[in-house]
Amino acid sequence: MRIIDLRSDTVTRPSPAMRDAMFSAALGDDVFGEDPTVNLLEQRVAALFGHDAAVFCPSGTMTNQIAINVHTRPGDEVLCEEGAHVYRYEGGGMMATSGCSVKHVPADRGRFTAEAVDAAVNDRAQAYLANTRLVVVENCVNRGGGAIWDIAAVKRIRAACDRHELGLHLDGARLFNAMAEDGTAPEQWGGLFDSISICLSKGLGAPVGSVLLGSGEFIHQARRVRKRLGGGMRQAGFLAAAGLYAIEQNTGRLKEDHERARRIGVEVATMPWCAHVMPVSTNIVIYDLAEGHDARRHVDALRAHGVLAFAIGPAQVRMVTHLDVDDAGIDQVIDAFRNA
Ligand SMILES: *Cc1c(COP(=O)(O)O)cnc(C)c1O
Repeated sequence: MRIIDLRSDTVTRPSPAMRDAMFSAALGDDVFGEDPTVNLLEQRVAALFGHDAAVFCPSGTMTNQIAINVHTRPGDEVLCEEGAHVYRYEGGGMMATSGCSVKHVPADRGRFTAEAVDAAVNDRAQAYLANTRLVVVENCVNRGGGAIWDIAAVKRIRAACDRHELGLHLDGARLFNAMAEDGTAPEQWGGLFDSISICLSKGLGAPVGSVLLGSGEFIHQARRVRKRLGGGMRQAGFLAAAGLYAIEQNTGRLKEDHERARRIGVEVATMPWCAHVMPVSTNIVIYDLAEGHDARRHVDALRAHGVLAFAIGPAQVRMVTHLDVDDAGIDQVIDAFRNA
């Protein structure tokens, strides 16, 4: 039986052409700044978003946590949404690595308003309050079922950050998915954020790697934090070559993944055991099971039909489409729904 692995878009294997690009990469020691392929990837992605500089890191967790560390001092407060990856899924890094406290901003599928930021910021004049320092936006929103931010709403948040002298970081792990869907361009997002994290290892299909973007001074500091955290890699050009290939070859096809996710969403909504499906905006499908159904047992039943999904709550399931799943794979998912 074919295994259709929809647990995450991180499960992709490098294609033969991507492997060729990796094997033929020019290499050097990146801790000395001498890996030409890493340097090219950093320059290319920074230029794409109109930022001055970039730093290549092993993971999106590291790019996010480095950004938070550079933006803040211990005791500062970070504003983000309750389901934000930086808060929920990064091992408590904001608190442990940067010593920050966190205030959750009320949100609709991960998207909050400038008014909510205004309301959440602490008064700097009050010495007993934590110093609110940074806002983190995630686009598209993982826990929000791939929800996409309206860029106009982000512009208002930028203005709120300017009013309150806050940094603004974008966890853009799947920003390319959002841009493929709403037609926005990288430089539009680049101009709104002080720092941006982009994952190459999600829908773009690279095996490893994320890029953090910012000003020259910000990235200079980020390099020190990366080294401190053990993220300074040597002949990392092998990995950067996969990232370059991903940026050049795999951004144009993301809408295919979204179309396939929509097919899953339409089908699952018709199942008697399905109580609710979040609107499918990108490559993520999140659905809730009807009362009396258990997500773990449901996932086991799907596995028996060769379909792997992820239980993200007691009755909530996530599927993520990606470049290793084709239309026949979606047919198999639909069969599994009908027979599980
Ligand atoms: C995957 C992901 C990250 C980074 O995850 P790593 O596995 O550390 O690369 C960050 N933010 C979001 C929203 C993600 O989905």
